[in-house]
Amino acid sequence: MAGVSTEELKSRVSIVDIVSNYVSLRKAGRSHTGLCPFHDDKNPSLHVSDEKRMFYCFSCKAGGDVFAFLQRIKGCDFKEALQEVADKAGVSIERFAGSKNSNDEFFTINKAVCDFFRKSLQNGTEESEKALSYLRQRGIDSEIIEQFSIGYAPALGSAVPSLLSKLDLSLRRAKELGLVDSKEGSSDFYCKFRSRVMFSIFSPDSKIIGFGGRIIDENTRAPKYLNSAESPVYRKRRSLYGLNKTRQEIRKQGVAVLVEGYTDFLSVYAGGVKNVAASLGTSLTREQVGIFKGYADDIVILYDGDHAGMDASFSAGEVFMAGGVVPRVARVPEGLDPDGFVKNNGIDALRALIDGALPLTEVLMEDMSSALAEKRVSQSVAAKKLMAIVPILGDSPEVGPYVREVSCRFGFREADLYSLASSAGKPRSQVRDLPAGPSAPEVVPAEMMLLRIALKFPEMAEFLCAEEIMKHIPPGETRDIISSIRASGMAGSEHVSEGSGGLLSRAYFTLEEISFMDESNVRREVEKCLVKLKLDAIGRELKSVRESLRVLETDSHDDTRGGELMKRYRDLLDERKKLTQGDLS
Ligand SMILES: [Zn+2]
Repeated sequence: MAGVSTEELKSRVSIVDIVSNYVSLRKAGRSHTGLCPFHDDKNPSLHVSDEKRMFYCFSCKAGGDVFAFLQRIKGCDFKEALQEVADKAGVSIERFAGSKNSNDEFFTINKAVCDFFRKSLQNGTEESEKALSYLRQRGIDSEIIEQFSIGYAPALGSAVPSLLSKLDLSLRRAKELGLVDSKEGSSDFYCKFRSRVMFSIFSPDSKIIGFGGRIIDENTRAPKYLNSAESPVYRKRRSLYGLNKTRQEIRKQGVAVLVEGYTDFLSVYAGGVKNVAASLGTSLTREQVGIFKGYADDIVILYDGDHAGMDASFSAGEVFMAGGVVPRVARVPEGLDPDGFVKNNGIDALRALIDGALPLTEVLMEDMSSALAEKRVSQSVAAKKLMAIVPILGDSPEVGPYVREVSCRFGFREADLYSLASSAGKPRSQVRDLPAGPSAPEVVPAEMMLLRIALKFPEMAEFLCAEEIMKHIPPGETRDIISSIRASGMAGSEHVSEGSGGLLSRAYFTLEEISFMDESNVRREVEKCLVKLKLDAIGRELKSVRESLRVLETDSHDDTRGGELMKRYRDLLDERKKLTQGDLS
């Protein structure tokens, strides 16, 4: 994308569109709002504006441009965020910033291989018929096969390599995607997926990012499931199967049903429960929870009805709770999985099961009640297990009612329960911290005010850049942005370094705080800000002089130095007095 700047790229996409892939947004005035995915948000604090090309959370103060948003929500680097935006804008970034390989090549390979798998499922051979009958047995009909691009990887090991060679696509890239492999030192590639039903995994914007392959011959020693390798386009931690098709429905209902695997997903979806997504992993990740939270605040975990399934439900539940959501748990009868349950009892029974799912806290209390009644656990073990989730809940408002309920139902004293809780488990902060991303740096209010002034009155930038004013603004982003506005004579999102802009978005989204200012009073407001900045500086210096004096008193008897410090201290106090009096006049 020679000649296309990141700024131009930002202008070619809608940040509202891109954020909508992760967060449910509603139009509110000139911007869009939604629940912030970066903190435990109860009221929509996240504001996104196409006009400003920025997002900002009024609560946790996360903000910035579209690159900053993607980096933070996906935990990726700038380059990957750039790639996603470039893809969206239909711009090739092959020549951008030295990045030689665009992800387009990966998507092209995945798409070609997917098409091949789909054809192989329908080519009427003995093995493909077997695959089709496996799918039909699971209630997966041709419509679902088509919708979810389900295919079949034939037994022939050279099928995919020869296809890719014919299409002149890179086998080396295909190896990075985990589609083919080669023996060490050999250039002979072979398919990694053989004799498997192939499920295509899509990104939220419906690009194929990976595959999951299930064997159809249960008698082989091969693993039941084989998944694509982690690759530049496939991050298992951040993917949810089926979400590209179901997110609208999840958003509409405000309820998301979480299942474990492809077949559970597909049979539940085929039955007509369309607000579902699959985690595709042994354990749910914080990133996946973050994605769910963007769509629904009512989560129902629907895992297998055996011990392992229940354990997995509780583990997933903990990740949700650490993310500020107490999920509900739908209990499939022992020995069945959701797929089997639908087959045995029909979809209406599954709907009833989902509707009647109890909060995880309630399920835990019920479990402990029966374990106690059957004398499987002692009183103290039960209390400990019941309290183990309290540190995970952290400062959630659910804690008080939960502990009270446990106290009532089990006859423990509340105080004892709280002390058990405080000695249990890992604190919430350890599990809930999102991967590091650009965060809004702390600035003092006066500095923020000057930044808003520069944005609203770009012509003031010249004045603000004067030496005697600039010297009072601490070095950093504020200074840089003001200088940049002065240089260009314009105020826009172009004044941020790539993929950041937290400070600038905060200033933009809070511009109404200076709505009272106009040309007649803006200079006076600038003076007020400067007084505040000077007072801040004096305050900091006073503190450090006091500290030096204290050290001097205890450690040495250097009277000259002490005298100097005392003089500086008095001068600073005088200066402060003058400034505050001036400010009051
Ligand atoms: Zn926030």
